[in-house]
Amino acid sequence: MEVMVFSVGLIKKVIVAIKTLVIIVMAKYLYLLMAVIGLIDFINKILSMTNILSGFIGKAVNVTFVTLLIAGSMVWSTGGAKAQVAGSIINPGFEDQATGTDKKVAAGWLPYEQGYKRVKAAHTGAWGITLQSDRSNPGTAGAYQRIDLQQGEIKPVQITGYIKGDRIVNQAGGWFGASLYAEIYLQDGSVVYWNSVPNFGTFGWRWIGFNTGTLAAVNQPIDHIFLVPILGDARGQAWFDDIAVKEHEPGVGVVTIMFDDGELSTYEEALPAMEKQGWQGSTAVITEMVDEDGFMGWEQLQALQRKGWEVVSHGITHEDLTTLSVNKVKQELNNSKRQLERKGLVVNHFALPFGAYNAEIMALGTKSYKSVRAYEQGSNPVGILPWEVKVHGVTTATDSATIADWVNEAKNKGQWIVIVYHKIAEMGDDAYFTTPSDLEEMLQTISDSGIEVVTYNQGWEKFGAL
Ligand SMILES: [Zn+2]
Repeated sequence: MEVMVFSVGLIKKVIVAIKTLVIIVMAKYLYLLMAVIGLIDFINKILSMTNILSGFIGKAVNVTFVTLLIAGSMVWSTGGAKAQVAGSIINPGFEDQATGTDKKVAAGWLPYEQGYKRVKAAHTGAWGITLQSDRSNPGTAGAYQRIDLQQGEIKPVQITGYIKGDRIVNQAGGWFGASLYAEIYLQDGSVVYWNSVPNFGTFGWRWIGFNTGTLAAVNQPIDHIFLVPILGDARGQAWFDDIAVKEHEPGVGVVTIMFDDGELSTYEEALPAMEKQGWQGSTAVITEMVDEDGFMGWEQLQALQRKGWEVVSHGITHEDLTTLSVNKVKQELNNSKRQLERKGLVVNHFALPFGAYNAEIMALGTKSYKSVRAYEQGSNPVGILPWEVKVHGVTTATDSATIADWVNEAKNKGQWIVIVYHKIAEMGDDAYFTTPSDLEEMLQTISDSGIEVVTYNQGWEKFGAL
């Protein structure tokens, strides 16, 4: 009997070990395969093509494919690096030198592949680390630490840090520049690989990171995380400092209802439907289009604000910011805000045209906005970062049952959902329109669920990382 129990346990352990290995190997070869057949480029091309096809006020189709599930090939050593208190991180600012070593080694941080150096270059304090892969043998460099969480229930975990870069470029076959990379071990031993948006080029200190609550694959409590500030198969030099891991309690689900592009139907159709429920909506406005045929005018936008609605900037021209020069991007971000403010509108957030972005756009955008919204589909956990707010985009394929599913998920997971509509009309020239009667039915579905409806900024104030 005892032997049987022991054997079953052993077999289980072996199965878990094999499963883990298979996941690691599969993930690794999936990436290699994708790289080899140019699938990543291909996806980017499809996305940009769809963007072009959807026309000038082309609605966001999807985001530029920037965050990749990547593979780990690391054999982790946890000796001396295990955080002592659940959820804590040792030496997050690299201020402490590891005992019995030279000052280039930080307490708590082990070398990842080509390793790191503790140096006097800091976002705060005196010390940080620098990553630079060997010029004669370029590869991946990093530092890592194991963070034990041993969660009893699913809780979102915010992983952030500050990064500075000097001429960072991917090598052939490289894929994620400098970023925060994590291998997230779930309760059953399966692993989720994720990294923040990759950072390239030369830039000053910027905040980066992600929230595990945004990852659908993190569908059970987290046991532990290997956290790696990384220069992944890239040339150049990166500096990291002030790494933070913050676990949040689930929130109370809320919903924001948003109407993109500032079309006239927002005022003529959406406003009365929202008023009927006693709710305030939010609208993302293209400033160049204000007062144009088919779009709201300044007086209508001001009237919306008086009624408690929120105006979000959607840029001046609705051009894909990833195709513009840095100066043009700054104009789109800053001048659109100024134009709206000059008309008395309070603007706290930006919605990216086509949802397209890269690390530089996000870093520029979050200087003048509380958040920069892309168009990735999903819900927002507590501790959502300013560059990772997700939406549920409504198309002609969306019905009340879909809305009910989204709302239930927000309630069950304690998350904030942002439902985005475009034109409210009987007819449209693409998939981004909703008939007035469908809108009314969908709003009724939301009302019946009893979930609280808030504006975008109210949602951000409850769920956003500060
Ligand atoms: Zn738009």
